[in-house]
This record gives sequence, C-alpha cells and structure tokens, in this order.
Amino acid sequence: MQREQISVFDMFKIGIGPSSSHTLGPWRAAQQFAEGLEQQGVLLLVEQVKILLYGSLAKTGRGHGTDIAILLGLSGDDPVTFEVDQIVPKIAAITNTHKLLLAGTQEIDFSVVDDLLFLFNESLPFHPNAVTFQAFLNNGQAVSDTFYSIGGGFVVKEGGSGQTKQEVDLPFPIDTAADLLHWCIKTGLKISEVVMENELAWRTEQETRQGVSNIFKAIKECIYRGCHTTGQLPGGLNVARRAFKLNSKLIGNNSYTSYEEWVAAIRQTGDGFKNILDWVSCFALAVNEENASFGRVVTAPTNGAAGVIPAVLQYYIAFCDGDSDQKILQFLFTASEIGSIFKKGATISAAMGGCQAEIGVSSAMAAAALTECMGGTQRQVLMAAEIAMEHHLGLTCDPIGGLVQIPCIERNTMGAIKAITASQLALQSNPEKAKVSLDAVVKTMWQTALDMNSKYKETSDGGLAINIPISLPEC
Ligand code: SF4
Repeated sequence: MQREQISVFDMFKIGIGPSSSHTLGPWRAAQQFAEGLEQQGVLLLVEQVKILLYGSLAKTGRGHGTDIAILLGLSGDDPVTFEVDQIVPKIAAITNTHKLLLAGTQEIDFSVVDDLLFLFNESLPFHPNAVTFQAFLNNGQAVSDTFYSIGGGFVVKEGGSGQTKQEVDLPFPIDTAADLLHWCIKTGLKISEVVMENELAWRTEQETRQGVSNIFKAIKECIYRGCHTTGQLPGGLNVARRAFKLNSKLIGNNSYTSYEEWVAAIRQTGDGFKNILDWVSCFALAVNEENASFGRVVTAPTNGAAGVIPAVLQYYIAFCDGDSDQKILQFLFTASEIGSIFKKGATISAAMGGCQAEIGVSSAMAAAALTECMGGTQRQVLMAAEIAMEHHLGLTCDPIGGLVQIPCIERNTMGAIKAITASQLALQSNPEKAKVSLDAVVKTMWQTALDMNSKYKETSDGGLAINIPISLPEC
C-alpha cells in the first residue's frame, strides 16, 4: 500500500513567508476551520473564537508570524492571493478594533491577547506543531478542532486524513528511491518523465504545464524582487538585506527593468568561479530576505529553505543551458520527486527533524534536479541527492529570536552551493560504485531526527538561539 500521494504542486506551493510549518500551515488550518464552521451551518452562530498554540508553534510562533497567519486564515484570506502589503494594516485593524470578520462573513469580538494563546509549556503527542481552534456559539454549544502543521505547509486535522487532493491511480506509485529507480529502469524514462506521467493522473498536461509556469513565475519574481529591495528585515534583530548590495556590486548598476533583461546582464558578468559563487549566494539571499519580510515565496519544500532550489535553478538558467520552459519543468519535477521521497520516508518538518529536514532536503532536491538537467543518468540523479543529504545529516534548527533569519538566510546559500557540488560529484562518478544509497540516507536522516534533542527542533531553546544575546521587543 502506497504511503501518500504527493504531487509537484504539493511540494511547490505559492504562499507567504516566513515559514511553511509556522505560517502557511497554520494559515491553511485556520482557513479550514472557518470554512468548516460555514459547512456545518454554524458560522453565523459564532460569538467567540479561541486559538491554542502548542509546542514549537507556541515557542517560535511569534517570530514565524503564526499569529498573523491565523488571523488572516480565520478572516478567510488566502495566502496565494492575499496582497502582502495589506498584511500590516489588516492585522493592525483586528488588533486595534478588537473585531474579526470570521470567514469574511461573521463579525466577532476578538482580542489578540486573550483569544490567541501561546502555550509554551504544553505540547500534543502527535506532532510538535499543533493548534486547536474553539468556536463558542450563541446557543451554548462549541465547536473544537485540532490541526497539526507537519511541514512544508501540509496540514493534518485530528481525526481526518488531511488529504484534500483526490486519490488517483498513479501509473508509477513511488515511496522510495528504489521504487523510482525500478520504474525508470522498467520504462527507460527519466525521473522527470515518470513524474509527468503521474501528474497526468490528476490533471491534463496543459494544466500541469500552466501550473509549473505559475510556480516558476512566483520564483523568478521573488528572486528579482529580493535583489532589488533595500532595507532591514522585520522582527527586531535589525538584520540588513544583503542581496540588493551584492547584486549591485556584481552587475555594476541596478537599472534593469525586467527579469529577462537582468538575467541577460548577469550572463555578461562572466563564468569565473568566484563570480558564480557570489551570484548563487545572491539568489538565495534574495529569496530568503523576501521570505523573512512576509513576502510571496514558493515552498521548496519549506519556506525557511525556500532559497536553495530557486538559487540552483537560477544558476542553471543564467550560467548553464536552462533557459527554456521544458528545462525548468524538468528541473522542478525532478526536485519534487526527491522531496516526496524524503517526506514519505523521513520528514520535511524542522520541528520533527531539525534543519536537515529543511535545508538538507532542499539541497538534495536541487542536486538531483540539476544533475538530471545536466544530462546525468537516473542513478547519478539519485546519487546527487544522496550526497547532498549525507553532508547535511544532523543539521540543527536553532533560529535566533525564533525568526527565520539567522542562521536561516545564509544557510540557504550553503544548501545551494552544496547542491551544485553534489551534482558535479555525481556527474563525475560511477553510481554503481556508491557505498550509500539514497534510501539509506533517508533512513539515516529519520533516525537522526528521532535521536535529536528537541532543543534543536525549531524551539529556539538551544544552539545559536541561546548563545547570541539579543533583546527583542514583544511583538
Ligand atoms: S534553522 Fe533551518 S530549519 Fe530552522 S527555521 Fe532556519 S532554515 Fe528553517
């Protein structure tokens, strides 16, 4: 029996930063709760709503914008379409008026202090990222639902499957790297071609290509915006944006008016090693600075690690031969399948597995994607993913101040560079002689996750988070 059916559009989701598990997931959970009230016919009876945040959602929720995401979700706003520049005024209005328009329909009294509770010392057994919504009705009854944000924006409702996608008969069911290789050998298809066949079980090829095009549009706009925006990141750490300055320094001036013009100019800067290294860092910084600023990003597979895959893809577009719709689709499809294998066999949630589950997985995804696009065999693709994860094993999650900024932003540059190195190593190697398989490293990553102290699982209770003195205002 197959563990889970995961599409490319589950792995890559357009949303708002800074965290897929602490922002996008709780946003979706709040939306689902509000929609559920409507479906049960009780929305107009609701007088009060209380939200209880547990575990990691409580401990790093403020820094990750969990409270903001929940208010927007309860209001019926959608993270794909909500205008990011409306976040601050909308939250201020709810806070100052003490009124919330539940599901965009039912106005209730709401106090962000008394009705949105961070239970720092409580957690629920199923997953560290738990949130309970309680709605109190004017007939004396109450509705209560608990959701778990299990990483990458995926949400599971207690007592439900969490699957909102239609179950289908996939021509190539895949749980492990061995399954994937089996189908590739049997059919002669590339990994991206196997993925396309599976995607066609959900939607037409035209819809699939359009969906990938939308994802890439969001990615390139995010990189471009990040490279052309100055200032400081929100949250109180006073972290300055660096992508703008690095971009300006590398390109000589900053007067380009479109992404395409800008990419053409990047190519003119040459292919020297240091130049490419700087550009890859610049692309990753750009995405994660946007992410830290509540900007529009694509989970890849999470928000904290949202810069790795775009940075490697942008490297491929600017410095290799990746500037075509087909190549971009091939890249994202291959990356997606590797991410799915990690999600099924281990985790993509830092609250479960530390940063190896975020930056490690994104690096493995990017390494595999680049390898297939550069002409590697299916075994070399899997080898590249294995190498990238092998050298992220044990990576802890300890964000300072609970913000997705330090070490997160720079860490994306490291994940991207390691992905390119892993790809190059695999392309220069005979995968038949590899000692470690991708499935072995997935298993090892999961065992490491289970052994990891909870201080290093997105709680900010250990590591850098407690060794760097900071003074953050309560926000
Ligand atoms: S340290 Fe890694 S896993 Fe933790 S929030 Fe930052 S990017 Fe995400």
